[in-house]
Amino acid sequence: QAKTLGRGRFEFFDVQLRERVQRRLRLEQDLRDAVRLDKLWAAYQPVVDLRSNRTVAVEGLLRWTHPAHGAVSPTEFIPLAEESDLINLLGTYVLKETTRELAKRRAEGIEVDLKINLSTRQLDDPGFVSAVAEALEQTGLPPKALCLEITESALMRDSHAADDALSALRGIGVRLAIDDFGTGYSSLAQLQRLTLDTLKIDRSFVTGLGTSSDAAAIVTSIIAMAHAVELTVVAEGVENATQLELLRDLGCDQAQGFYLGKPLPAEELWGIEE
Ligand code: C2E
Ligand code: MG
Ligand code: MG
Ligand code: MG
Repeated sequence: QAKTLGRGRFEFFDVQLRERVQRRLRLEQDLRDAVRLDKLWAAYQPVVDLRSNRTVAVEGLLRWTHPAHGAVSPTEFIPLAEESDLINLLGTYVLKETTRELAKRRAEGIEVDLKINLSTRQLDDPGFVSAVAEALEQTGLPPKALCLEITESALMRDSHAADDALSALRGIGVRLAIDDFGTGYSSLAQLQRLTLDTLKIDRSFVTGLGTSSDAAAIVTSIIAMAHAVELTVVAEGVENATQLELLRDLGCDQAQGFYLGKPLPAEELWGIEE
């Protein structure tokens, strides 16, 4: 009895595992097709300055509408792409598409900066820095209008290739941000050494504002630390007025979140291109 139960359970997990592996393999193939068939697109989420209440930037976020599964989250397909060469294709797509879009919008008088996310695999790619320089040159987007976001865990990898790429990017005048801050283990010294421009407080800390005094204490100290090394602080994941007011009171510089604006297709955010 126990034996058959055990085997049944084993088979059950086996089926689950097989299904997960199959979904991954299918998604990877589908993602490859999506890149080839131009089925990816970028959504843009406003970043609001808390003193002027103006949208000063947008974050370009990759979107994939799968023919059968509908919207697949980047939290699912980015890690998948990172395990293969696909991430460089996706990264190049995002870079070209979003710089082109922003350059056009700026020419129409919409004075906002662009933020995009980078994977470590891109920083390790020897052709990446010149791809950025080329995208800026071809679109005419000023380097200081582009901010590249790298997650805290990715920045703390201690990779020479990545360090060199980051200095080269700074050399061409591009801005750099540390994303999802608070989820890794970086020190003040590391923050200073990296010479970044912006620090984004991870959503998990912003979520607790207004309900947890711990969250408020953590956000307060992150802001103090970031300002001590002259970084602009952006709060991610602001979902209500209470959080926004608290962030303003705590001296946070900029904010982003569903309360201020959800990620939208460019046409919905700014209208059809002229
Ligand atoms: P991220 O860079 O930290 O982006 C912020 C994520 O939080 C986005 O999720 C955004 O839609 C979501 N968000 C914004 N405001 C709120 C809010 O008020 N509440 C909640 N619950 N969520 C909010 P998304 O678009 O699903 O992207 C997830 C992650 O995938 C990104 O986190 C980023 O790490 C990665 N990603 C997205 N696009 C790209 C890309 O083009 N390249 C790379 N390498 N990674 C990307
Ligand atoms: Mg488009
Ligand atoms: Mg980001
Ligand atoms: Mg983030």
